[in-house]
Amino acid sequence: MILLDGKHTAETIRQEMKQQIDALLREGRRAPKLGIVLVGHNPASETYVNNKMRACEQVGIEAVKIAYEDSVSEQELIDKVQELNDDASVDGFIVQLPLPSHIDESRITSAIDWRKDVDGLTPQNIGRTALGMPSLVSATPRGIRELLSRYGITTAGKHVVVIGRSNIVGKPMAMLLMQRPYLSLPNMSASALGDATVTVCHSKTQDLKKICLTADIIIVAAGCPKLLTADMVREGTTVIDVGINRVDGKLVGDVDFAAVAPKAAYISPVPGGVGPMTIVSLLQNTLQAYNEHTR
Ligand code: NAD
Repeated sequence: MILLDGKHTAETIRQEMKQQIDALLREGRRAPKLGIVLVGHNPASETYVNNKMRACEQVGIEAVKIAYEDSVSEQELIDKVQELNDDASVDGFIVQLPLPSHIDESRITSAIDWRKDVDGLTPQNIGRTALGMPSLVSATPRGIRELLSRYGITTAGKHVVVIGRSNIVGKPMAMLLMQRPYLSLPNMSASALGDATVTVCHSKTQDLKKICLTADIIIVAAGCPKLLTADMVREGTTVIDVGINRVDGKLVGDVDFAAVAPKAAYISPVPGGVGPMTIVSLLQNTLQAYNEHTR
């Protein structure tokens, strides 16, 4: 079994990015700039935002936090989104989710200019990803793709089972995997990814075990601890655990790691697997948006 070390891989990518950004600065160009809109005081959101700000700092991306109280109105947020859309000094921005219940998240994300949508959540970016056009891809699927690529794991002709159909993970993940790889993400070997046969499973899927037993690669993004157990996995399967769950104060994924790991060819741990890759993908999307803006 080989551990897919997202923490180490993300650190390597951050070092590469720092060199790229340092080179830009030496050429007299400005640093890339990311805006982060945070509403309220959700502790998980505050932690994520702090981690993103710190990661930006490490690579030389300027990060600006714009914080609002829970009481902010939908219109105030939309006005801020418009302002960030129009601000030429901002290359990309995110609105940290979830938002308070009086705000319609889809109205906020749909208002973001897709060229600055570094979370890859706008209908334009999701549509462009589906069509195989250049796009800003949702950070978690992008990070998983990069993790597979960095470990030399190919997907062509393989059966990949994706568990979860969310707009931020399951759906875009399936689109990337099934794609013809000629329009791969920047800095990726075109031959490595895409061309998979993809099955997307969800909470209403019948006989998940039977489907998983036919998989070469299983990507679990359901938010259910120990959803994937050893009896659901063939010897030699690659397992990617996206889940983040807190059980008895401990962070765990969706995979029964101790039982599944001995059967897996490759497996990503929680923590230290997909999570760090997601953050680094946000940085890569910001650099991608910057390169587009400043060309
Ligand atoms: P979600 O929470 O919006 O939805 C869960 C999905 O799992 C749904 O599509 C549902 O149909 C499916 N599902 C639930 N129970 C199931 C079951 N028993 N069998 C099969 N399918 C089932 O999805 P999400 O936002 O993609 O989040 C999924 C998990 O991934 C959560 O734990 C979340 O915290 C985590 N996550 C992690 C990262 C990261 O960077 N590591 C990023 C995003 C999400």
